[in-house]
Amino acid sequence: MPNAPISINNFYTVNHCPHPVKTVGILGGGQLGLMLAQSVLPFGIRCVFLEDAPDCPARLLGKVYSSEQFDDFMRACDVYTLEFENTPLSSAQMLEQQSTLYPPSHALFIAQDRLNEKRLFNELGITTVPFLAVHSFADLKTACDNLGLPLVLKTSRGGYDGKGQFVIKSESDIDTAWRELGKACKVAPLIAEGFIKFSREVSIIAVRSQQGEIRYYPLVENTHHNGILAKTVAPAPNVETLTTQAQENVKKLLEHLNYVGVLTLELFVTDTGLIANEIAPRVHNSGHFSIEGSVCSQFENHMRAVVGLPLGDTSMVKPSVMLNIIGNYPNLSQILAIEGVHYHGYDKSEREGRKIGHITIMPTDSDKLNETVDKVVGLLVNKLGM
Ligand code: AMP
Repeated sequence: MPNAPISINNFYTVNHCPHPVKTVGILGGGQLGLMLAQSVLPFGIRCVFLEDAPDCPARLLGKVYSSEQFDDFMRACDVYTLEFENTPLSSAQMLEQQSTLYPPSHALFIAQDRLNEKRLFNELGITTVPFLAVHSFADLKTACDNLGLPLVLKTSRGGYDGKGQFVIKSESDIDTAWRELGKACKVAPLIAEGFIKFSREVSIIAVRSQQGEIRYYPLVENTHHNGILAKTVAPAPNVETLTTQAQENVKKLLEHLNYVGVLTLELFVTDTGLIANEIAPRVHNSGHFSIEGSVCSQFENHMRAVVGLPLGDTSMVKPSVMLNIIGNYPNLSQILAIEGVHYHGYDKSEREGRKIGHITIMPTDSDKLNETVDKVVGLLVNKLGM
């Protein structure tokens, strides 16, 4: 029989939710939305999504409204949140004025622009790379003189997974970098950042409740391949002193933004300590391990905060490693034949460089973690440089 599309949209009703907030409206309908909705199914809380791609992953768990159906989406929900930070700020502000949106739209305003983000970090005493705003070719030349080469030129808006960036290694790259990214200046200034020598990339995920309680997930170590997250090791090894600094940084941000929900802070580890790179005002790929690896996942904790339920325990069940599935699905029965492996596919079509699933590896015997990771990598179609 040919594969028929499956959807539970037709069965979408909330009948027995023992909580006043029954329906959460999520801006965006990607895999993060899908996993947010999965996390609160046991509570009887349902999600609907504002998303223009009708075949998005989240369609599996709730009704998807297009942006033209914004009013219907609004009427369907008790409270709103987001899974995609490039959601138009105006939609977020409208929801906030007319109802309740967590996190606040101001967090989006900050996270949507690398200059806003780094200026706020500095204002709060959080160390960043040296950076300068670039409005013109002349500014770029000045930035190269002042920051020195190499430097990273980035669009301040709309970039993701390493897109919209150019590493200027020598004088001869300056023209090319400007040809490639200069156009984006019409929308917003570019940002020139000093090129930092880091030993590792780490991230910290924290959650803040409506009452201001904060809980932290462990600092995790991330490895990227072609600009896309390939692997997360949770917890990151040897980071005891760095963990305190990371927690202090994320706490400052959560409190300053009067934030509710999950916030992610990405950092570089350098010889002189941690350097903050960027925030994501949402659940994050580097927290996917927490579905099985933590007592209460980032997804459930975000939703608990958004609907006003008590926060859950963020401590780890066991050390774990998360591998992203990029481009092509592996053979499911071979993957599941390995002990300690948890597979999550997002029901997305295969495409080069696309995140279509992830695997969390958490064998009962943690001494077997690395060898189990190697077995899984052996079965991945794209080995992501591992
Ligand atoms: P971003 O989009 O800012 O997360 O950048 C994507 C990747 O580029 C990061 O994960 C780093 O590996 C690298 N990168 C970004 N900014 C810098 C920088 N200022 N210096 C060195 N590497 C960087």
